[in-house]
Amino acid sequence: MTKTIFEKIADREIPSNIVYEDEVCIAFTDAFPLSKGHTLVIPRKPVPDIYDLDDETGAHIMKVVSKVANAIKDAFGPAGLNVVQNNGEYASQTVFHLHFHLIPRYEDEYDGF
Ligand code: 5GP
Repeated sequence: MTKTIFEKIADREIPSNIVYEDEVCIAFTDAFPLSKGHTLVIPRKPVPDIYDLDDETGAHIMKVVSKVANAIKDAFGPAGLNVVQNNGEYASQTVFHLHFHLIPRYEDEYDGF
């Protein structure tokens, strides 16, 4: 099966700005950030979406989402932070390798959404 761009990033076949990694998952900055510090957390293995996520990987990845959220908070001091996870084309998923968006939000950019 063809690898997704995120599996290639996890396998270090293409470059990315990795900010955290362990044996189960990695975190790297989004190539088209919605805000300063927009980061993605993904499992290393090719899980396409939330429906295919096993309990063990899911539990681990949520700990890492929390850890990376705190690192973003400390580094950038956002006023808020959205955790977003899209499943399926009609939910705006464009890369079919499970990923959690961590999107810091800043007071001066707030538009009510
Ligand atoms: P989705 O719409 O699937 O939830 O989000 C995919 C995200 O991946 C988008 O925010 C997009 O900017 C990001 N992205 C797509 N290609 C690359 C890439 O090659 N490198 C990185 N770092 N991010 C990417």
